[in-house]
Amino acid sequence: MAESADTTIFTTMTALAEKTGAINLGQGFPDEDGPKLVIDAAVEALRSGHNQYAPLPGIPALRVAVARHQRLMYGIELDPDTQVQVTFGATEALASALLALVRPGDEVAMLDPSYDSYAAVVALAGGVPRPIPLAPPGWRVEAAAVEAVVSDRTRVLLVNSPHNPTGRVLDAGELDVLAGACRRHDVIALTDEVYEHLIYDGEHIPIATRDGMAERTITVSSLGKTHSFTGWKIGWATGPAELVSAVRGVKQFLTFAGGTPLQHAAVVALDDAGEEPRKLARSLAEKRDLLAEGLAAAGFEVLHSSGTYFLTADARPLGFDDAVALCERLPLEAGVVAIPISAFTAEPAERVRPLVRFAFCKRREVLEDAVSRLKAWRA
Ligand code: PMP
Ligand code: GLN
Repeated sequence: MAESADTTIFTTMTALAEKTGAINLGQGFPDEDGPKLVIDAAVEALRSGHNQYAPLPGIPALRVAVARHQRLMYGIELDPDTQVQVTFGATEALASALLALVRPGDEVAMLDPSYDSYAAVVALAGGVPRPIPLAPPGWRVEAAAVEAVVSDRTRVLLVNSPHNPTGRVLDAGELDVLAGACRRHDVIALTDEVYEHLIYDGEHIPIATRDGMAERTITVSSLGKTHSFTGWKIGWATGPAELVSAVRGVKQFLTFAGGTPLQHAAVVALDDAGEEPRKLARSLAEKRDLLAEGLAAAGFEVLHSSGTYFLTADARPLGFDDAVALCERLPLEAGVVAIPISAFTAEPAERVRPLVRFAFCKRREVLEDAVSRLKAWRA
């Protein structure tokens, strides 16, 4: 179905939800706005003349706010002028970094499954994606799997924690395995931390804080998930000045600089020192539990999720060993859209064949409705 290079699985599944009227637990976006204070700040910025190009690196106040956030949350010190680049969402930060660093033939190691833009941009850069397989139900990063992939041919190691689609939050031991491989083979880590505050058990550890990693890590995040503004596309890349400068060099020719009023509002969002994201995480933890219990009652075997918007369910107890086929039927038969985990793997791997990703970043009544539809469908 949707794995073709020109349409993402998210576009396909959201279109299917709209066409069939099914509840969209496919594409990960919340159905409620982020903090009103931040929206008010955006309106205020629009009305007070912040409507022209921002400076290429991003408005100074936002760069200061990002640096402050990294210091308060993780003890990472950054110079806002040289070590912070504001981008059009995490997506542009990741793309700029990969296009800046990867030359034709370079290998890029990434967890498998992974968010779909990684391999696509590596291919645009002429690089070679090298998957590091994670196996369900634990989805742990194993030293042997990392060793088998990362070598002197590796240019970049892509890390993502909390991890989409599995909901894994990598622990210190796993991050040290990845960091060790980067140091031994002189690899740059590119880490996608867009779900950094959406954690329900465990804690977020940026790989940049592990030994010897600050000087070889580009850290990417954005406002989309942590503040429920996925349509705003305000993101950033941080790290050593020379790597941030390389990101900036590519970014200037992708979009130059935009979203000026939203950059002003993002300052207000980041300045609350994580208060709103903590509230959001508490509410998402309850929604995770609601959906997990509901899916189990509908007959799925639910895998544990510690973070993100997502959880994974095994459809075999319902008699389905092919999640692609199941996800094609569910919108029409049950009125619910979900996404097969195989949409996130390098190939349709056997280990993920029966697994489905459901998003729980929706209002309680929407999740309850989805669960009752799935139960009725099963019956
Ligand atoms: N990385 C991951 C892991 C994601 O799930 C998403 C989904 N939005 C993105 C990056 C994209 O972030 P943004 O919307 O800020 O570009
Ligand atoms: N990050 C979202 C998800 O994984 C989708 C973003 C997109 O549509 N590209 O569902």
